[in-house]
Amino acid sequence: LSNEIQQTIAGEFVINRQKLFITIALGIARFPKDAEEANTLIQNVDSALHKAKASGKGCMHFYDPQLTEITNNKLLLLTELKEAIARNEFKVFYQPQLDARNHQIIGMEALVRWQHPDRGLISPKNFIHPAEEHGLINTIDFYVMQTAMQDFIQWQSLGNDIGRLSLNLSIKLLEDSNYLNNLKAILSELKFNPRWLKLEVTESLIMKDVNLSISILKNIRKLGIEIAIDDFGTGYSSLSYLQKLPVDKLKIDRSFIINLPDKDTDLTRTIIALSHSLGLDVLAEGIETTEQEKFLLENGCYFMQGFYYSRPLDNNAMTQYIQDHYTQQER
Ligand code: C2E
Ligand code: CA
Ligand code: CA
Repeated sequence: LSNEIQQTIAGEFVINRQKLFITIALGIARFPKDAEEANTLIQNVDSALHKAKASGKGCMHFYDPQLTEITNNKLLLLTELKEAIARNEFKVFYQPQLDARNHQIIGMEALVRWQHPDRGLISPKNFIHPAEEHGLINTIDFYVMQTAMQDFIQWQSLGNDIGRLSLNLSIKLLEDSNYLNNLKAILSELKFNPRWLKLEVTESLIMKDVNLSISILKNIRKLGIEIAIDDFGTGYSSLSYLQKLPVDKLKIDRSFIINLPDKDTDLTRTIIALSHSLGLDVLAEGIETTEQEKFLLENGCYFMQGFYYSRPLDNNAMTQYIQDHYTQQER
């Protein structure tokens, strides 16, 4: 039957001497198997149709109870995220970044977690993307920025040079025309020196609209803030653009580091050489073993971050880390 419907409706029509081509997408729900009530049946048709349209032109999809479950889960997550923002359920963790030649701290990366009342600590991988899709990421990123700056100032006041604070920013936040003014306002309110700050933006996000990214990043860099390209090697940036990008550092993606020193050695060496020739710093993320550290050091990459040195730490653990680290240095 669905084939007949498609054949009857789809095709070529001539209206006002113009040829029009019609394709149809079909969503199908069956009575009484998929729903016994008219309203639910129509809702189910709708979710099957949604799925069919997403699959491409001229596609057809039968209703599947899993579809409702996925939609319901998404809606639940969204409601919960809004509540989490209202209830302040986000926590900021910090992962040290080091110069592996002398094990001096050169900075730390702020990483957000969601402290869910029932489900415990939730990884950003499970909520950053939905938060971006539903326009909630700016609120979260802004909260992380403020909290991390306050914590960082507290550690600075212990009297040690702890380098720069790195923040992960969704390019959505940077595109917000108020962002730069808000950032300046926070910096001056907290008396946070822009030279203590570094922003990490992923390569794939930069490349989405490279000219826009260049102009946004230029303005940020004018303030003295450093820019790092995150997940470098995964986003297909071309060499000609790389030269034009106002950035200071490349972060080699963990997916390459994980294979060292058996695989991805040429690729890693190429990225290191590329950074050097462009005059950029290079940091490797996701170091877990001595062998990985050794390979990178031998090939001229000195800045590192990974579980090998430290997992991301909450405020208390980071305070302890800084104290331990500096007393060890002095001994
Ligand atoms: P990312 O920016 O690439 O952050 C590095 C991720 O790698 C972190 O995961 C970190 O915990 C993990 N990692 C570091 N060293 C190792 C290692 O040696 N082994 C392994 N297996 N993993 C390691 P996390 O914290 O789950 O964050 C995931 C992603 O979520 C981040 O990837 C970043 O893209 C995003 N994210 C985190 N915090 C924020 C935030 O405040 N705002 C925004 N917009 N995104 C954030
Ligand atoms: Ca990052
Ligand atoms: Ca990364």
